[in-house]
Amino acid sequence: MENYIIKTLAYNKQVRVLFVDNTNMVKEICNKDNMNKLLKSTLGKTVSIACLISGILKRQQRISLKVNTSHPKSKIFADTDSMGNIRGYLSDHLLNSPLNGKRHVTIEQLIGNKGYIQVIKDLGMNSIFTGITDMPYGNIENDFSHYFNQSEQTPTYIKLNIIFDKNNDIILSRGIFVQLLPGASIHLMDQVKQIISENQFVLTNAESIEIVKERLLHLFEDSMFMESGAVQFLCGCSKEMFYGMLFSLSKEDLLDSVQKSNQIETVCNICGGKYYFSPLEIRNMLKSY
Ligand SMILES: [Zn+2]
Repeated sequence: MENYIIKTLAYNKQVRVLFVDNTNMVKEICNKDNMNKLLKSTLGKTVSIACLISGILKRQQRISLKVNTSHPKSKIFADTDSMGNIRGYLSDHLLNSPLNGKRHVTIEQLIGNKGYIQVIKDLGMNSIFTGITDMPYGNIENDFSHYFNQSEQTPTYIKLNIIFDKNNDIILSRGIFVQLLPGASIHLMDQVKQIISENQFVLTNAESIEIVKERLLHLFEDSMFMESGAVQFLCGCSKEMFYGMLFSLSKEDLLDSVQKSNQIETVCNICGGKYYFSPLEIRNMLKSY
């Protein structure tokens, strides 16, 4: 099934409710041999939040999320545009961290007590806005709700669900994002949270988009369907971006591959895409070394 987002309004247009099923995307990004359950879960959650946020972006807008753990080099990244093109990855340090081999480490322990969230919004027309908030909950989803409440003064509630199989591979990923629109009664948020907690099946049952749409419209009062659409994993890397990496190799290594007529293979850490540089391309590059 495709990854999709459903956008609705409820309570007479006072509340925005977004729902995402990004199971396939999260499987593709997170179900890798070099990640344990903790890292899959951490990255999967961050990617899911990016998916949900894509639903509130306007044309040309992009948003980058950075979850900074207490270790300065261990970070989780995800970004999205308004078309629902999403990518997410872990810093090399986190991927190679001893935590990756350990069992029974929680997300809260990984984040530690100095963790913080950075949200970089590119609103187009050279307008960049950066928001930073701490992570008092240490579970990512409540911390992002906290970000919207604090930094954007918009009451927000995010609930995610990632299900693993017995091999610790992700088999389902869904999320819901609720935001009060200007002028909405603050009490509506408690009501919405209560309804979601009593109807967890929306986040746990792998049903088709049509059924989920119906269920969402029935859950909340005065609901109206706005639109639904696809979200997809798109890295956006290109061969040009990897020329810089060749420059980080020594001149001797580059000359060596030219002399031996060996091509050089580069691999994108985010999507696994491979780019090859022929001896001729390397020789041309060496002229400007
Ligand atoms: Zn890539």
